[in-house]
Amino acid sequence: MTHQAFYGMRFMNHASKAILSSAILVTIFAGPSAMAHGSWAHVQVTGWAMEALPAGELRDLLTGDPEVFNAALFGAAFTDSGYAPIGKDEPAAHAYGEHTHWESFVQDFVDWIRANDPPPWTDLESRKRVAFLMGCAAHGMQDEIFDSLFLFQAKEHDAGGQHNADPAMDGFLKLDGLLEFVPTAYIPMDTVLELYAGLSHKVTADVIQQAVDLMIGAYINDELGLLIAQSLGEQYEPEMPWTRLHYMDPEIPGSLASEIPATAGYMEAIWDRLHGTFDPDSAVIHTYPDPDDRILGNDAESPDSWVTLVYGAGAAVDSLTATWVDTRKTAVDYTLKGTRWGAHWTRLHRLQPGTSLVSGEWYTVELAPGLEFIDGAVTTKVSGLRFQAACGESGDLPCPDTAETNTQADPSGPWGPGCSIAAPGRSVETLWLVAGLFLIVAIRRRSATG
Ligand SMILES: [Zn+2]
Repeated sequence: MTHQAFYGMRFMNHASKAILSSAILVTIFAGPSAMAHGSWAHVQVTGWAMEALPAGELRDLLTGDPEVFNAALFGAAFTDSGYAPIGKDEPAAHAYGEHTHWESFVQDFVDWIRANDPPPWTDLESRKRVAFLMGCAAHGMQDEIFDSLFLFQAKEHDAGGQHNADPAMDGFLKLDGLLEFVPTAYIPMDTVLELYAGLSHKVTADVIQQAVDLMIGAYINDELGLLIAQSLGEQYEPEMPWTRLHYMDPEIPGSLASEIPATAGYMEAIWDRLHGTFDPDSAVIHTYPDPDDRILGNDAESPDSWVTLVYGAGAAVDSLTATWVDTRKTAVDYTLKGTRWGAHWTRLHRLQPGTSLVSGEWYTVELAPGLEFIDGAVTTKVSGLRFQAACGESGDLPCPDTAETNTQADPSGPWGPGCSIAAPGRSVETLWLVAGLFLIVAIRRRSATG
């Protein structure tokens, strides 16, 4: 039994709710078995992403009706439900849980809706099913981002890892008063059973219901679940001081706040996929750093120097051809990686420099056409991301404010003004602003309560 599970048991005795299985579930739904940050955190980030969407049909659908909004929130929790220890049916539950995390499930779901219930979705059940898909997809995307980026930051600063960073996310949100969304169960059962039919284990409605009931009874509820989250926060706060300070910092790649604009952009891309209007040349929905922004650090040994592209659909991990050059067009040696767990259909690529970058220098990562997506689409245009290295000690290159520099810059490549890597109309800057506001709210609530 892990320390977390033991802690959960001890805690529940205090709470007079001696549910043995719940103790184990603390590890399952808040811990490393769940693959990336805890279930509560997925629900909150997904809710904030929906609220951060630009005005339009997608935002109206997801936020206009509490039942639809709840369906998306529950989708974001459902994805981990398959990890519930339900006894003899655990292998089947694990199979659907794992599958639900990845782009192959998302694409099958998109195809199912287009074939069986195409837009416009006029009845409530159709709208809830679309929202549920958005929630499941958001969870998988957030796991890829958190595991591939933030866990490396937590390791560098706190010697942390999945075992403590995952549950700490739920705990810190609770400590900061940010667990505001508590979803209730909604599952489009007939549809998901059809989508799970090809898995290696037979997934039945009973298997799914058992797993979901256990998840809700033990953790995703506004009584015991919130108390457990509180205790996790108190447990991990002393050992992860940097993570505690930065888990909602929008400037840190992979933080919960930084996942908000990426999740919103992904939802917009899925909306396009559902409508058959997905444009592969606008598939890069988010980048770390933002276009024309500055990266955190130049040390090749640190994740601060990485450049990350996030896609609105799964991309074939080996299909990206990219170049990384400085202002003199001198190539920067780099290693290309997809998601941390090596999936073929990755929702992100990380470019990690082989040598440390030059302080204040401007760089460009240029993507050649030919990037392949899971729906068969392929990019046909060159796109790129321009950014500045971190500024170093005095005596290095002058390093003015990036906004000021941008107005003076004369980009000569095809990625120049009007050809930003961020898809037109995706309101990336607006979303970042919203993410920053969440940080301010978090700090204010923390000072108000502490
Ligand atoms: Zn997960």
